[in-house]
Amino acid sequence: MAESKRDYYEVLGVSRDADDAALKKAYRALAKKYHPDANPGDKEAEQKFKEASEAYSVLSDPEKRKQYDQFGHAAFEGGAGGAGGFNYGNFSDMGDIFGDIFGDFFGGGRSYRSGGRSNGPMRGASVRTSVRITFEEAISGCEKEIEVNYKEECSDCHGTGAKPGTSPQTCPKCNGKGKIVYTQDWFLGSMQNVQTCPDCNGTGKVVKEKCPKCYGAGYISTRKKFKVTIPAGIDNGQSIRLAEKGEPGVNGGGRGDLLVEVVVSSHPIFKRQNMNIFSTVPISFARAALGGPIRIKTVDGEVEYEVKAGTQTDTKVRLKGKGVPSLRNKAVRGDHYVTLVVQVPERMTEAQKEALRKFDEAMTGVASEGEKHRKKGLFK
Ligand SMILES: [Zn+2]
Ligand SMILES: [Zn+2]
Repeated sequence: MAESKRDYYEVLGVSRDADDAALKKAYRALAKKYHPDANPGDKEAEQKFKEASEAYSVLSDPEKRKQYDQFGHAAFEGGAGGAGGFNYGNFSDMGDIFGDIFGDFFGGGRSYRSGGRSNGPMRGASVRTSVRITFEEAISGCEKEIEVNYKEECSDCHGTGAKPGTSPQTCPKCNGKGKIVYTQDWFLGSMQNVQTCPDCNGTGKVVKEKCPKCYGAGYISTRKKFKVTIPAGIDNGQSIRLAEKGEPGVNGGGRGDLLVEVVVSSHPIFKRQNMNIFSTVPISFARAALGGPIRIKTVDGEVEYEVKAGTQTDTKVRLKGKGVPSLRNKAVRGDHYVTLVVQVPERMTEAQKEALRKFDEAMTGVASEGEKHRKKGLFK
């Protein structure tokens, strides 16, 4: 094998004392001539390309070149040099060479074959805005008016951006394709690089004489008001979509949407979790002990609730169907959970204190063990 291999200097057609610039120049010329992309299906060209690449990979590396000068091809056949083989099957092995002499053309992680935007109809971008509503409005649903920047099609040019009487021309730079294929004709023949046409921004059309009304934009920005119907049960952060009220499309594409995010203000009493509402209601010690009616605020207004005698603090009460309506069906509602908190009075009049002392005496009397047993005995 080694004997059949051509001398690397001979392959590149340079003298043994050629400097880096001379090596590079020679390799570029050969790479351009024999690159597989420029010679599809040509096995001989492919072989020549590989041969030149191998020669250049060795001679452009000072260390490898020294070994090659000393030992010839034997330097890279697992013997003296141990530089390892050169795998042609995998082009990524040539990354270093290409990176070195072709620079950014292959590098940077940019997909050089990826296409730019097409010049077909493109839908406009969606626009986001927000509207603030109260807690109650979220429960009952409401209608709000919002004002947004709105790009209205120019009435003079009907969105083309061209002066009335003229029409947009096919972009001469990209021939209306909206993309430009850069051909690497300076040394790699058919290598192609596709980019969005900078002249027409991918639309494929250019306006020679701009519409004086919209200055060629094709639309005029105005402030526009829209009514937003907010359904009962909407929650903080949910959005309402106003179809086709966003940015205008390109080349006949439809408008984008207007997305209205609903921001629900917090409530001083009510807290919400999904479809349920939570609140805390203070009740007096006497009401808790004796039981009786209390009034509880709900989103439907005040409701009466009968407290059971002997209610402890932190008792949870469920008011069925007093929660948030379902977005899908207004008739389906969550519940309202009330936590009853027994209040201990902080200030009392002398009369109240006296009453409480009497109460306390009565309680301790009942609670005394001897008295209890005596009473039980009597009742028997
Ligand atoms: Zn116009
Ligand atoms: Zn163009």
